[in-house]
Amino acid sequence: MSRFAYVNGRFVRHGEAAVHIEDRGYQLADGVYEVWAVFDGKLADAEGHFTRLWRSLDELRIAHPMSQASLLMVLREAVRRNKVKEGLCYLQVTRGVARRDHAFPNPAVPPSVVITAKSLDRAATEAKAALGASVVSVPETRWARCDIKSIGLLPNALAKQAARERGAIEAWFVDDMGLVTEGASSNAWIIDAEGTLRTRDTNANILRGITRSTLLEVIRASGLPFSEKPFTIAEAQAAKEAFITGAGSLVTPIVAVDGVKLGDGKPGPVATRLRRSYIELARQKAV
Ligand code: PMP
Repeated sequence: MSRFAYVNGRFVRHGEAAVHIEDRGYQLADGVYEVWAVFDGKLADAEGHFTRLWRSLDELRIAHPMSQASLLMVLREAVRRNKVKEGLCYLQVTRGVARRDHAFPNPAVPPSVVITAKSLDRAATEAKAALGASVVSVPETRWARCDIKSIGLLPNALAKQAARERGAIEAWFVDDMGLVTEGASSNAWIIDAEGTLRTRDTNANILRGITRSTLLEVIRASGLPFSEKPFTIAEAQAAKEAFITGAGSLVTPIVAVDGVKLGDGKPGPVATRLRRSYIELARQKAV
């Protein structure tokens, strides 16, 4: 099937889509990104991802490339042109194209915008989630501004590769206090021995996951015990359940941490229920 990408104002064939070699995203990872889950051809958690995008851009002093209303239109058009019913929509904004120099271009240049959309086989991902997944731990090696959704993902890519090589789907970063920060592309959660849902607080050096915040609404409404209290790998291994959240993984149950099975090694009932509730709510609210 033909795929199309949006590049700086127009849709082009995916295979021919290109940016200039002196784009600052390519040269310096000077840019940010966002990923929306697509349900029924609509964008999930749209508002949350927009708010975080504007914040990431503002923190880096990159100009907003267009208004939220225009961006929503282009994202929807990318989804439509690629005939995505179930999948992901990706947006990248960089500081633009300029002669290579670390400091910002002066005068400023227009930011570069790239949008792609791809289909996912939800039946296959549901079947995978029903089996549960494994994570491994890696030392935290990232910069101090993980709250910015920067395209500088080298530590995340290395961590993810380490996970693959160890038969896991995700790597959890562990800081120098021995506490899990988050995954290479997801937030990390456990249900501890007391039955309390735990995930790292957002004052820590982590990305403020949009799936995480929507799931928090679900958790609050359900009255489940919850605490934004960090945990160690040993606590995760002794936990009743664990799971990860993200626009790609949604809510995916974790059944082993560093090779140690959690409980009976099957997805826990709470994580399984939360996955269903999250998807139901996100589908309803998608735009
Ligand atoms: N942490 C990191 C490092 C991520 O890359 C992601 C996914 N983009 C997340 C957390 C989850 O964020 P979200 O729920 O907004 O996709």
